[in-house]
This record gives sequence, structure tokens and C-alpha cells, in this order.
Amino acid sequence: MSQQNFDYDVSIIGGGPGGSTAGYLLSKLGLNVQIIDKDIFPRQKLCGGIITFKTLDLLNRLYKETTETLLDKKIINYHTNRFEINYKVKRIMSINISKFPFYLVDRRVYDNFLLNKAKEAGVDVIEGNEVKKVNLETCEINLSKGDKFKTKLIIGADGANSIVKQEFIRNGIIRKSKWNYNLATGLECFIDRKNLEKNLFKYPMISFGFLRYGYNWLFPNKNQVIVGVGGLNRKNKGLFKRALNRFISALKINPDVVSRVSGHPIPYGNFHITPIYKDKIILIGDAAGIADPFWGEGIYYTQKTAEYASLAISKNFKNFKNLKNSAILYLRLLSKYIYSELRYALKFRWLIFNPINTFFNYYPTHLMLKLMRNKLIDITQGIRSYRWGLKKFFKLGTYLQ
Ligand SMILES: Cc1cc2nc3c(=O)[nH]c(=O)nc-3n(C[C@H](O)[C@H](O)[C@H](O)COP(=O)(O)OP(=O)(O)OC[C@H]3O[C@@H](n4cnc5c(N)ncnc54)[C@H](O)[C@@H]3O)c2cc1C
Repeated sequence: MSQQNFDYDVSIIGGGPGGSTAGYLLSKLGLNVQIIDKDIFPRQKLCGGIITFKTLDLLNRLYKETTETLLDKKIINYHTNRFEINYKVKRIMSINISKFPFYLVDRRVYDNFLLNKAKEAGVDVIEGNEVKKVNLETCEINLSKGDKFKTKLIIGADGANSIVKQEFIRNGIIRKSKWNYNLATGLECFIDRKNLEKNLFKYPMISFGFLRYGYNWLFPNKNQVIVGVGGLNRKNKGLFKRALNRFISALKINPDVVSRVSGHPIPYGNFHITPIYKDKIILIGDAAGIADPFWGEGIYYTQKTAEYASLAISKNFKNFKNLKNSAILYLRLLSKYIYSELRYALKFRWLIFNPINTFFNYYPTHLMLKLMRNKLIDITQGIRSYRWGLKKFFKLGTYLQ
């Protein structure tokens, strides 16, 4: 093995927040790292752009960036002290979140910022060159422009449509039906603020009821408002576009000022698709199906899984033969700190989207959210866990003071 020539210690496929974070950390730990992305940055990425308190905490810990520095550098472009939850457009509750406001980023800016951090840490970045083939046995990577690389190990950080994951499926490591079972679709469009009245849509809005096992959202930004819909595919066949249009018309937005609609898959509970590694290849973030199965939040989870993967790889790199020891540690960290929480998020999702709730036009949700009030925001922000929230919910008395 040591006689072989490798171009890199680690090749990371995908330069989104997951790939950039892994590249940054591994390069800082002294490994020779490469990131390959099919796009040239800054590039568009379909996303609502909400980042939660737990993400800010992670950015602070890993990059020493605080909310203030991120605001100064214009990485965060909007923040808000209010959050509204609706049944269709009928308000269920408006929550004041001044203690831990929601922050919004433009993914062109955010992802470019993180990729630059990786470059500054010494990562070789190839942009505008798509990975066409990954050999799971030899760790050879073939790119669309003809380049070839041989690497000691590969991190698949190439999102929900991951080519590395597709290779896992082709080789029978991940079952396609299992992956698809919990896949969601997100559709989004935006409206330029110039086309809206000045004081309209100043805070994020979530609406249940236009589709099943999912929700509509309106997220404000500095220069635009993002309107979207996301939900579980198997519960909403053919309904997404209609749910988005109905939301837009219920908000009384002129359809002529709305941009073209784009769509992208969202992992929505696919985190059980283990194994997410093979010999010298490991998956992180969306490629591994790891996102919140209730809200669909994925930025935090991709950066967190990048941190765990980097830690696990660096711990075992000296005597590197294959990823087995690293993968065991990675899976242990995921089980303890991420899967355990996401399992409760799945239960929470059922509480909100179950058929009784939908039959009664989400009235039980209405009641539940009223009882939980700011606790739901604490859970979303990562200050409290879903597990804690569910326990509290079943002791309703605590909310009735
Ligand atoms: C409509 C929508 C709204 C969302 N809103 C939010 C939100 O508000 N907050 C939140 O936290 N999360 C949100 N998410 C989820 C979030 O966008 C993802 O979880 C997150 O982007 C995952 O990051 P990643 O680095 O794993 O993958 P990605 O961000 O998808 O990055 C993957 C990268 O890999 C590259 N790539 C892909 N294939 C190849 C290839 N073959 N060769 C080379 N490069 C390749 C891509 O160009 C891309 O840059 C939303 C998702 C959708 C679809």
C-alpha cells in the first residue's frame, strides 16, 4: 500500500458546507486534501437559508466566527425576532424569539465563505469539474474534463443526489427503496423585495395544511423573500407545485413577480440507510441522508457530520489501511449525538402530521404548539433536544401553569 502513489490523502467530492468543513478540518490536522465540485463558486444552491443557534455555535467553535463577525462580513444577511406558525394562512401562533433570533444566509455567499476557509487552510479545490465515476475498490475518481485522481480515501459530500451514494446503491450497499422511502422534495421560488410593499414579510412563516408530511415556508432575506414547499414524496405524489401555488395565492402575492420554481430532493428521515461507508469511502451530510426529518434543516447536520468524520479519520490516519476503525468511531458519534436525536424528531413529526391531526385541520397541532410555545423554538435552535420536548409534551401539566 505504501508503495502506491496517491495524489491526495483525502479527496472530498462536493464543496457545499459539509465538504468545505471536512476539508478545512482535515487540512488543519495536517492531511493533504482535495475538494472537487462540479460548480464554480459562488454558486446557487436551493435553500431557505435559515441557520439555527446550534449552527452558529458550531461556526464559533470550528472557525472562531461569532454572530457579530458573520454580520460584519455580511455572511448573515438577515435576522429576525419573530416567527409565525400557521394552518394554511390562519395564524396558529406568533412567537417572539428575541433571546435566540433566527439568522438567514444567502447560500451563494455562505458556501463560498466556507469554501474559501478550506482554501486558506491549504485544501486544493477543483471547481467546475464534475465527478463522473468513483471506483469503490481502488478509490480512483474520474472527472468530466478527463482528469483522474487516486486517493487514500474519499468523503462523499455531494448532496442528496450524490454520485458516491449512487455508486453505493449500484453495489448493493444501500437499498434504493430504503433511500427513496423517506425522501422529500423541496420546491422554491423567490420574490425581489422591490416588487413587494415595504413592510411586508419581515419574519419567517411556516404553514401546515397545504400538503401532508411537510409544510410551506416564507423566509425573508435582505433583498428577496423565499417561498417554498417541502414534504415527503410518498405522501404527496404530484401535489408539490399545487401546494406552492395555493400558498402563494393565499399570501396574496402577485404571481407575475414570482421567479421560476426550482426543486431539489431533501433527505427526510433517510438517516437509517447505514452503512454509509465502504472500505475507504465515507458519506456525510445530505449524501448520507442526515437532515432533520421534521424541519428538513440540513446545514447544521452536514457540518456536524463533517466534524465527526474528520475527527474519526484523523484519529486513525497514522496506521491507515482502510476506514474500518474510523468508520466505527464515526458511526458511534453519529449514533450517540445525531441519530438518537433524529429518531425523536421522527416521532415528533408523527405527532404533528398524523392522520388525526390532519383530519381535524391541525387543531391538535394548534393546541400542542400553544402548549409548547417557545419550547418548540428552543428545540429547533438546538438549545433543547426533541427528546426533552417529547417528554415535556407528555407531561402537559408543566405547560399549563
Ligand atoms: C428547498 C430547500 C430548502 C432548504 N432550506 C434549508 C434551510 O433553510 N436551512 C437548512 O439548514 N437546510 C435547508 N435545506 C437543506 C440544506 O440545503 C442541505 O441539507 C445542505 O445543503 C446539505 O449540505 P451538503 O454539503 O451535504 O450538500 P450540498 O449543499 O448539496 O452540496 C453538495 C455539493 O456537491 C456538488 N456536487 C454534487 N454532485 C457532484 C459531482 N458529481 N461532482 C462534483 N461535485 C458535485 C454540488 O455542486 C454541491 O456544491 C434546504 C434544502 C432544500 C432542497
